[in-house]
Amino acid sequence: MEKKLIYMDNAATTPVKPAVLKAMLPYFTEKFGNPSSIYSISSENKKAITNAREVIAKTLNTAPENIYFTAGGSESDNWALKATADAYESKGKHIITTGIEHHAILHTCEYLEKRGFEVTYLNVDENGMVKMEELRAAIRPDTILISVMFANNEIGTIQPIAEIGKLAHEHGILFHTDAVQAYTQIPIDVEEMNIDMLSASGHKINGPKGIGFLYIRKGVKIRSFVHGGAQERHRRAGTENVPGIVGLAKAAELAVANMKERTGAERKVRDHLISRIENEIPYVKLNGDRTKRLPNNINFSFHFIEGESLLILLDGKGICASSGSACTSGSLDPSHVLLAIGLPHEIAHGSLRLTISDETTMEEADFVVDSLKEIVEHLRGMSPLYEDFIKKEA
Ligand SMILES: *Cc1c(COP(=O)(O)O)cnc(C)c1O
Repeated sequence: MEKKLIYMDNAATTPVKPAVLKAMLPYFTEKFGNPSSIYSISSENKKAITNAREVIAKTLNTAPENIYFTAGGSESDNWALKATADAYESKGKHIITTGIEHHAILHTCEYLEKRGFEVTYLNVDENGMVKMEELRAAIRPDTILISVMFANNEIGTIQPIAEIGKLAHEHGILFHTDAVQAYTQIPIDVEEMNIDMLSASGHKINGPKGIGFLYIRKGVKIRSFVHGGAQERHRRAGTENVPGIVGLAKAAELAVANMKERTGAERKVRDHLISRIENEIPYVKLNGDRTKRLPNNINFSFHFIEGESLLILLDGKGICASSGSACTSGSLDPSHVLLAIGLPHEIAHGSLRLTISDETTMEEADFVVDSLKEIVEHLRGMSPLYEDFIKKEA
């Protein structure tokens, strides 16, 4: 029997939806013109970009001119931080973020520290939640920016973004959020939530790779990120990735249109997976907040297990999962997020992230739990630590 692939790594990347690909295709071939030229095939491209900007702006309740296309989430994060640091340096050199951000934020902060900026990395509680009192206490007269991710890519915890935005604005501080995981999974209103800058990425929402956007509120002084032509209101030069932009907007449009049903379906399968794993596999711990959690995220630590072995054996059954974030696997250090929520190294090492989609069926979920039960039992059977533990328990 041919093995069916069960893809539960949607936080790492997602497949392009057929309707998205269909919308993109003409822009590779017959509609190939440079949007900056004046003949008619080019004006069609220009129109496609204008339309895409409008579609995306609507999903955030903002104006089209506040949407800037980039090459993805990492670039948007880099831009938001580096360009604000440059533009507001004279006001202050203090930035507040969290210890559980994506490396696109954390490594950019490290770079800024080398340039003389001071960065406060907020702690999170055992569920991965930012503590508002700690944030309030971290604010200083020279704080120019607060950057807190909307939802975490490893453990799925959703932060109190509206509260953080309100606090930032009460203090006249800019607020950026990395919404790469949250965008189209959670309703976002940049006005209501006081968000000044927001990063998103195409390939996390069933759009293409290498395209994303940064929303920048009107009035925010932000420097050009790429110097050259006049594209993106002179702020990000380079001939536009027209097929990518069209695909990103199509993906966003489709995902926002069915957000309620789609995330409702995901939640059902998520909760089924969580409850079966908790009830049927001993010595496990759910990581992340139980309720303030992305609809598609499941993250567990399995005591006495190595996450890597788990992944390899799951792969053998056609199941794609992750033991942390794709960027950190390959290194032996456990994920910074799992350490930040207080897991000891050995428990963090035995963690598994399953990120589903609305196409994940209950049958697939059951197959994954059944496989997990078998694999965990097998691996524990070979673990001297587990053997010692069971002897002590007896
Ligand atoms: C994937 C991801 C990014 C990076 O986005 P790319 O488009 O792959 O550069 C940034 N932040 C978070 C939270 C992510 O999940």
